[in-house]
Formats: sequence, C-alpha cells, structure tokens
Amino acid sequence: MCGVFGVTNTENASKIAYLGLFALQHRGQESAGISSTNSSEIISHKNSGLVIDVFKETDLSKLKGNHAIGHVRYSTAGGNSDANIQPLTARIGGVPVSLSHNGNIVNSEEMRQFLESSGAILQATSDTELILHLMARSNKKEFIAKLTHAFEELFGAFSLLLLTPTHLYAVVDACGYRPLSLGLLKNESKIPSWVLASETCAMDLVGAEFIRDISPGEILSIELATGKIESVFFNLTTQQSKSLQQAKCIFEHVYFARPDSLVWNMLANDTRFAMGEELAKNNPVEADMVIAVPDSGVPMAMGYAHASGVPYKIGLIRNHYVGRTFIEPTQNVRNFKVRLKLNPVRETIKGKKIIVIDDSIVRGTTSQKIVELLREAGAKEVHMRIASPPVKFPCFYGIDTPKRQDLLAQVMTANEMNDYLKSDTLSFLSEKQLLKVMQKFQKNTANENSFQENGGWCTACFTGNYQDEIAQQKGCGFIKELKNV
Ligand code: AMP
Repeated sequence: MCGVFGVTNTENASKIAYLGLFALQHRGQESAGISSTNSSEIISHKNSGLVIDVFKETDLSKLKGNHAIGHVRYSTAGGNSDANIQPLTARIGGVPVSLSHNGNIVNSEEMRQFLESSGAILQATSDTELILHLMARSNKKEFIAKLTHAFEELFGAFSLLLLTPTHLYAVVDACGYRPLSLGLLKNESKIPSWVLASETCAMDLVGAEFIRDISPGEILSIELATGKIESVFFNLTTQQSKSLQQAKCIFEHVYFARPDSLVWNMLANDTRFAMGEELAKNNPVEADMVIAVPDSGVPMAMGYAHASGVPYKIGLIRNHYVGRTFIEPTQNVRNFKVRLKLNPVRETIKGKKIIVIDDSIVRGTTSQKIVELLREAGAKEVHMRIASPPVKFPCFYGIDTPKRQDLLAQVMTANEMNDYLKSDTLSFLSEKQLLKVMQKFQKNTANENSFQENGGWCTACFTGNYQDEIAQQKGCGFIKELKNV
C-alpha cells in the first residue's frame, strides 16, 4: 500500500503536496518524496522515513514550481531499498517524467525477465520502474500513447500519477483496485487548480473539494498551462477486457483507509459502523461491554454496540508514538511488542465479560496477544468478533498480507482459531454479509459501474477468486500443495 498526491497550478505546490502526504501518512511510513515542475525541468526530494522527517522547510523551498506530485511508501513488491523510493524520475524520449505509484503489478516478474533479457538495465527492484521502461520502449510517438501502450502490457493494481513539465496524468488500472480521487482547490486564477489523492482526507487538509473518482481503465490528463482535463481509456484486447471486471479492494474499507475518507464515494467511518452492526446481528453474545482494538476497530465496535445494545467502553489504549525500538526488556515482560502499542484499562476490564472488535485477523498475532492481555487484566470472558471474513489468501494487488502458509485462517478452521487465540468465542462477518453492507452504501452513491454481481469488489483475500490467472495460480496453488502434504 502506498499513498499518492498531486496538485496543479498553485503557488507553493510542493508545500500543498507535503500537507497532502502528511494526511496520507497512514498509507505508508517507509519513505516519502515529492517532485515538482516549473514547466521546464522536474526537481525531486525524497528519502526514507516519515513525511515530517524527510522534508525540512529548505527542502520544500527548493522544490520550485506550481505543479507537484508526491508519494508515501509502504513496501510490498521489491523491498525497501533506497532505489525504490518514489517518485521515480527518468527521461522518456527526451521528456523528464516523474512517477508515483500505488498498487502492485502482478506480472512484474515476467515483465522484468523479459526487459532484462532484451538489454534493459533496471535500478530498482520494485515494479514501478517497469512502467517507465515499457513507456521508453514503446514505438508510439505521442506521450499519452506510450503511456497507454505500457499499461496494456501490465496486469494488476495501479493507481498512479505521472508528472511531466507540461502535463499531470492520473491512471487507474482496468479493475480499479485502488482508489484515486480528483478534487479542486479554490484559487483566484482562471486556470483551475486540480488535486489528485489516494484518499479524500488529503483534500480536506489542503482545502480542496472532492469532484469524482478516476474510473477503472481511465487515463486522465491535465494540461498544466491551461488546466484542461481530458480522459482516454485503455484499449485492452477483447480477451483481457472480457475477463476483467471492476474489483475495488474491499480491504480499503475494512482496514486501510482513514475513517474520515470517502473511498469510492463511501465514507469509511460509515461503512465500518455498518459492518459492526451487521456483525452484531449475526453473532450476538451476552456480555458487559463492547471494546475496540484501536484505532481501526473503533467505528466497528461502536456499530456493534449500537445494534446489540451492549455498552461501548474504552478498554484498550493505544500509544500513537510507537516507532521502531531496539530496547527489548527481559523475558519477564511478556507481550512486550503488543504492550508497547496497547494497554488494557485494568479497572474497566476486571471481572467483566468482554466483546472485543477488530477489523481483521491476518497472522493472528495481534488477537492472540490481546486475549492474553485482557485475561491478565482480569477479564472474565473474552469474545472476539471480527468485522471481516477470515483472510485466507495473499494479496497480489498491494496489501501486504503475508505468504499463504502464514495466514492463520489458511491453516486453521474457525474453531481451531478460537482454541489457538484462547478466546471464549470467535466469529467473523461472512463475505456475503460484508458485501450486503457495501451494497447498501453503493446504492446511495451514483457509482453505476459497481452493479456487477458482487458489487464490483475484490474479495480475493477472503475467497481466492483473483481476477487474473497469474494471481490465481500464485494464490491458490498452495491449496493443492497443502492437500498433497
Ligand atoms: P495479525 O496480527 O497478523 O492477525 O494482523 C491483524 C491486525 O493487524 C489487525 O488488528 C488489523 O487492524 C491489522 N492489519 C490488518 N491488515 C494489515 C496490513 N495489511 N498491514 C498492517 N496491519 C494490518
């Protein structure tokens, strides 16, 4: 997962980009970067670390120009080497280009082998560089044709921004896995000042108004000199377009997005509250209180409490300042890593029957430690309620869900998981229930593309139904392997 942000036609574009990235920090904390243009050259500044650490006032003042793009990185494909820090810059046919990419390209290994075998020298290990190489190799004359050409070769998830001295392009893959929204910044000029952001919370901070989402398969171009926008769509081969459907990542709503963001025009806070309500209707249990695993579980726990009538209490406090620590205490401080982050409110918990709401179980580490912490704090009963289905399959589209064998639900049934976590009871929202919740919200938004059979969501991490064959093979091959063992 990563966050991208772009802005055109505004003084101090790099400062606006900085604020946008600051609001998108939850989408990636590994590195940050901004590229700006004064309409002739592109200047960049990037480094590993948080936005606040990467940019000093002097760095921003060197990033001159009225147009800028930025990136916050959360490494999935390619690891965390410096060469992978974005935006990536290159010259294509003499034109300086800077690229910020969110998502994962599924056929990147195959594409990398193909490019290397035909003489390409690749610097980064991430999949983003491949886009620039494919554009550079394209025999098309026009820049936008090169761009379209490159994307016709790539499968998977990409929502990205590409800045040149004359244009800013916003691109979303044919399935629309990752969100990318267009907004407008108020200005005094006749030329509009456009904003593009992975999430609308970034628009709120810079005072921009949300206009619409970039559609699946859309390449939107903004002419920097005039602010004129135009869209073209990928010319996918019939075979590709037949098999590809809209597949918005449902995990954006479950976990990733900030609750104050409109994601595909649905407020994440509201969808999460409704997930909690649905969870309560289908999985009731008698208890004294509902508590959340903060922060992501909070709206869901409030929804659960609302629908069940069981009071919502604050039972776990999160320390927001946890970074990387090298200080490991002695063996007798158990659960140190989770304790650093979460502390149970002992006086509230003691002697009580507790319903704990979290958004998801991936490896099971968090839930297991939380049950242990709550028992140590004197809880009488601990009932785990998870507001999404069991994560059984890895994601190849940009969410860092681990290898298949590390996913708890891949190797255990729900009953076995309950024993493993040492909870009194454990239940999940089913895929059908989750889709029912999302369908309700889609009806309220005029997202007419979404009325596919399952509402146009990617739920592959729960079902193993990937859109493309490469992911299908990578993601489900293991099932066969497991059965053979
Ligand atoms: P785990 O401990 O591996 O079961 O992870 C589940 C916990 O991590 C939940 O509390 C989630 O809020 C959070 N989580 C879920 N998906 C991710 C992700 N891709 N990256 C980081 N944290 C996640």
